[in-house]
Amino acid sequence: MRLIYRFFLFFIILFATACSNEKPTITKPLDKRNHENTIITREFYTNDGKTKFIIDNKAQLNDHRLDQIDHEIQTFYYEITHHYKNPHYDWEKTIKIVLRSENDISFAKKNEMVLYNTLGDHYLLPHELTHTLLGFGDFKQNEFNAQYGYLTQEGLAVYLQEKFSPEKIVFPTNGLEIHSIMKYIIAEKQNIPLKELASNSTCYKYFNSPNQGNADQLLWKSYIHSGSFVKYLIERYGKNKFLQVYNTPDFISKVNQIYNKSLEELEKEWISYIRQNVKDLDIQQRGKLLFP
Ligand SMILES: [Zn+2]
Repeated sequence: MRLIYRFFLFFIILFATACSNEKPTITKPLDKRNHENTIITREFYTNDGKTKFIIDNKAQLNDHRLDQIDHEIQTFYYEITHHYKNPHYDWEKTIKIVLRSENDISFAKKNEMVLYNTLGDHYLLPHELTHTLLGFGDFKQNEFNAQYGYLTQEGLAVYLQEKFSPEKIVFPTNGLEIHSIMKYIIAEKQNIPLKELASNSTCYKYFNSPNQGNADQLLWKSYIHSGSFVKYLIERYGKNKFLQVYNTPDFISKVNQIYNKSLEELEKEWISYIRQNVKDLDIQQRGKLLFP
């Protein structure tokens, strides 16, 4: 009798423990509709219950498309926060996502992102989510800015966009494999020394160039270098090392400390890896380059 009592007690405790570890209850998305029954805003919590997203449906997408984007947000949120969490940054608990139909340059801030081109399938969701969830800039000042290294900020965003949504035709890869584009740039002898892109005094020239002449091409090349180099670092040395150099004010010396190699040595390794292991773009693929 006593043994049976213990047996039941064991299960009661087990059950109570299981309940206390349970994820928060998922509430249904809260939709607000206009008089034409189109959803104008949707609020929902992520499956871990930690973050609320508010979708502002300026693009007037129908319910099916909104469900699809809602599902993508949940999936990419999980991947980014579980596998690439920045140990130095806690993302905002309420994040607004504005969906726009027109074609323009999407952007992300601390608690808001604007996604263009959402009428079609080709919008930059993982890219912008990376910025918002992993943070960039001087966290102590509580602001987002680029002075802490465009190279790692944009590189990680480009890398995760390709990793999670390789089928999307988006900037800067246009659906092509990033390492293959880098191989093309190297073959054309158009590659930019990484220290130029990494240094706080010179990076603006490349990443923040005014929108004229060949400046767009420079911006495009900078994003390709960043994405390809970050992909190489993560796939060769692991994401934990990379996350220690992500968004650091003095990237070049931090690289020495974490990788035990200089940026120049890593750059040489990366270029020879690309030359030896990556497929060339074929003629058809070359036609898809944003700046051939
Ligand atoms: Zn970006």
